[in-house]
Amino acid sequence: MTAPRTPGSAPHWNRRDFPDAAREALAAQPPRDDLFHHSQTRKNVRHATDVIQAKRNAVVAELPEWQSLRAAGAAIRAHTLEHLDHYLVQFEANCTRHGGHVHWASDAAEARRLVLQILAPHAPREVIKIKTMTSEEIALNACLEEHGIHPVETDLAELIVQMGADRPSHFVVPALHKSRGQIRDIFAREMHRPDLTDSPQQLAAAARTYLRQKFLSTRVAISGANFLLADTGGVAIVESEGNGRMCLTLPEVLVSIVGIEKVLPRFQDLEVFLQTLPRSATGERMNPYNSIWSGTPVGDGPKEFHVILLDNGRSPILADPESRQTLRCIRCAACLNACPVYHQTGGHAYESVYAGPIGAILTPQLHSMHDAQSLPYASSLCGACYEVCPVQINIPEVLIHLRGKVVEQQQSTLAGSLSLWNIAMKSAAHLMKDGSRLNAAVHLAQTAQKVLVSRNGFIEWLPGMLGGWTKTRDLPALPAESFRDWWRRTRSAHPSAPASSESARD
Ligand code: SF4
Repeated sequence: MTAPRTPGSAPHWNRRDFPDAAREALAAQPPRDDLFHHSQTRKNVRHATDVIQAKRNAVVAELPEWQSLRAAGAAIRAHTLEHLDHYLVQFEANCTRHGGHVHWASDAAEARRLVLQILAPHAPREVIKIKTMTSEEIALNACLEEHGIHPVETDLAELIVQMGADRPSHFVVPALHKSRGQIRDIFAREMHRPDLTDSPQQLAAAARTYLRQKFLSTRVAISGANFLLADTGGVAIVESEGNGRMCLTLPEVLVSIVGIEKVLPRFQDLEVFLQTLPRSATGERMNPYNSIWSGTPVGDGPKEFHVILLDNGRSPILADPESRQTLRCIRCAACLNACPVYHQTGGHAYESVYAGPIGAILTPQLHSMHDAQSLPYASSLCGACYEVCPVQINIPEVLIHLRGKVVEQQQSTLAGSLSLWNIAMKSAAHLMKDGSRLNAAVHLAQTAQKVLVSRNGFIEWLPGMLGGWTKTRDLPALPAESFRDWWRRTRSAHPSAPASSESARD
């Protein structure tokens, strides 16, 4: 879902409300020509998340100190966010000391401009990319294409998504909505390999051959990062495929685009996250490849190294004490795998780079609550996300905070304050503030419901906006006698009932 582009600009997400996008993902009767896509997508998402979650639970259970590690991770991230200005400046000084160049981008447009500026002297026709959700966030690929530079994703799953002209649906496993057969079809078409079967070994070997040639021939790489290390000026990436190591060592120029919240105070802090991140993300005890690089050492790795520190809506989140914890996220995606809503809809329904429970709180905030206002409601508030989060982000708490903000924002506009929903809520508040008003309303409803109650004692249809409730479930009818009326009647029959009943009544 992209808006029309103007020359020189990159596309932006043009979000539908979550219920509309989710309805499509959940459609019981998908369009005829898309039957396979819908049923297969849901099956793939469920299977993949179940498998990853089972692996995660098994390796987490091996560590009796798991809860202490979570607490330590939360404490380190909370401390860093409290002193983010200090640690970012420290990182900049140390990275620069080792030969790196640090740039600050306040928004997506500035980050894209910086990338183009850095690439200009090298005039690349192609760049290789590794692990960069931030580049998705700033819509970098479209911008590069517009300027005649072809980006090549080197994570296997990202490559599948790119070749399939698709969108990622998960942070860690972006192509988890694709089956082996679908991947075979994409590779056969894009790599001109009709001989491929859907054997995982064959598919991985085809990707390896294709990418190896790109690694050896491309002079510029663009990466994200898992962590920045303030005390050494280092940048860290953990990964499983080795493509990161190739991207970080072979090209002559490396540009890393990293959210400002990714900094850690000390190298030593990795001790916690290198245990919690792989276990939470993929159910592995450790990642096969852990790369940490600083600047441009002579004779080793890229000769030119840039870090773009991306704000793009993070500072206002930092300034809000109630939602600041959102920025502790280390993008492990454990909350996606645990979420019953994500299980049903998959990632595309969130219409954002960031899907699942963390996406439901991060995306609206990155957009200053002006966009994606339905996402804080994309949750049953069951708390499964909080339980698995390795940095103890209380996502339900933030969701409720954001729902309050959505209501405030809607009420601040004339259309919002005059909306039927708002008037109904204000009227309900007015009634419920006063016992006698509430009683009168109940008596009125008891009379009015007589024409609506069916034989089984339920209301199966309500008019207007109230019909939203009865569309999917029946409403039990009000009893003929309310609790208050019953209390009055029985109390007068038994005068010894407690006198405090007056306050209970009203
Ligand atoms: S919110 Fe927690 S569980 Fe979800 S991706 Fe971030 S760190 Fe992982």
